[in-house]
Amino acid sequence: MVKEILYGAVPVLILFLVFLKVNVGPFLVFAAVLAGIYFLMSRQSGVSMGGRSKRSKHVVPKTNIQFADIGGQERAKRELKEALDFLIKKEKISHYGIRPIKGVLLTGPPGTGKTLMAKAAANYTNSAFVAASGSQFVEMYVGVGAQRVRDLFRDVKQMAEKNGQDSGIIFIDEIEVIGGKRDGQQQREYDQTLNQLLTEMDGIGASDTPRILLIAATNRKDMLDPALLRPGRFDRHIVVDLPDKKAREQILRIHTAGKPLADDVGLEKIAQETFGFSGAQMESVVNEAAIYAMRDHSETIEIRHFALAVDKVMMGEQTDREATVEEKRRVAIHELGHAIISEQVRPGSVSQVTLTPRGQALGYVRQNPMEDRYLYTKEALEQQIMVCLGGAVAEEIYYGGRSTGSKNDFEQALTMAQEIVQSGMSRLGIVHLSYIAKSQVHDEVNRILEELLEQTRRVLRQFDPVFVNSLQILLEKEVLGGDLFRSMLREQQPTGELIGS
Ligand code: ADP
Repeated sequence: MVKEILYGAVPVLILFLVFLKVNVGPFLVFAAVLAGIYFLMSRQSGVSMGGRSKRSKHVVPKTNIQFADIGGQERAKRELKEALDFLIKKEKISHYGIRPIKGVLLTGPPGTGKTLMAKAAANYTNSAFVAASGSQFVEMYVGVGAQRVRDLFRDVKQMAEKNGQDSGIIFIDEIEVIGGKRDGQQQREYDQTLNQLLTEMDGIGASDTPRILLIAATNRKDMLDPALLRPGRFDRHIVVDLPDKKAREQILRIHTAGKPLADDVGLEKIAQETFGFSGAQMESVVNEAAIYAMRDHSETIEIRHFALAVDKVMMGEQTDREATVEEKRRVAIHELGHAIISEQVRPGSVSQVTLTPRGQALGYVRQNPMEDRYLYTKEALEQQIMVCLGGAVAEEIYYGGRSTGSKNDFEQALTMAQEIVQSGMSRLGIVHLSYIAKSQVHDEVNRILEELLEQTRRVLRQFDPVFVNSLQILLEKEVLGGDLFRSMLREQQPTGELIGS
């Protein structure tokens, strides 16, 4: 209303001043600058000067996600439901005089279903639901972050009241962005935001209507300020981890429901081949497979579409990059190096060696499914390191010198060698990294890698003839099937020392 009056009055005032022959130029420039600043501020904060946002960005469209729509995560779902019962069973809580839960922290890698869990929690408890991400609170204007925290609480209360719900859930993703440890030095914008969040949480009362529950998600619990994790704040911690094989199968089942699957599609087999994939990646596999089927004009989504989709999610889209003949030869040699060592370490492991460029890679070895594994012995780690080194060693032997193509392999090998040291399986014994010199760790990691490089060289040289023959096939056909490769390896029984002997 005030705005409308201003809109009308200002032009009249200007005209009046012009009529009086007053020079209005400087006033106009000043007013334009003020208007510019106001516009920017209100865009940044989403809050109009009247103090109320017109349309909140935190209100998310109502979803129908239930706990049943989340594959796996049985333990996490159980723990979360337990925490939510505190929101539902009010009488019991007050009967026993239990302090209500204010905050639940979900921790785990991206794409494991933390947001889904929060949404399902809102439906389970029939709560109003608002969501924000930590990065949305980071602004260059001091006070905007804190204002947004207030907005969040206000929004959820308003929404619950409007819908007649007696509880509200606020979901904050990437909480570490605002909830990082305070350094105690300079007063940062983050500190104000975090303080505001703590104040709001402390202000939640047991008998409030609507009852507010905060659910936050992070991948970096170690970075959070201890004040956030104190009892009475985010004191329920629930781990939402990468899915295991059974969970991956369930996620596939959820996302393939209602899609035209061919009879040959075994979800268990796909789950087995996707070790280490997150829920979001599993969803992506299903989606990509459907896209491949559509491109193929196939009535149904077949197993080959899933195979392509798994490759795509793992390695990236096939690219049109045409490698030079020289490059192709080098890549073929490199991949065969990996493949030969892989077969020695885990017979039957190579499913296919390919020279098709995909993502950043110019070629790759497709492995047969492995069992989910969470513990590694020293031997297993050493063998994996040798598989990684196989590519560079083959280039050295058959091409002369290494190339930048081995960078990723070396990174993986280094990580695994460090794992050996940190797990107390190296010559250094049980060590704490902060008590020994970095150079000592470096030397030991190097020694491990040098020894394994030497061993990899010895193994590869044993298979000289197979190497030459399979290289020929790979260069001609651009693919080499695992069975053919194994039969060639069997024909040439190596003599002398092999891995582990
Ligand atoms: P996070 O919040 O942990 O990063 P999300 O909950 O946003 O992950 O998950 C992203 C997408 O991945 C979801 O929309 C869903 O399609 C899929 N997804 C992830 N985890 C699961 C799961 N456990 N069950 C079913 N789908 C999942």
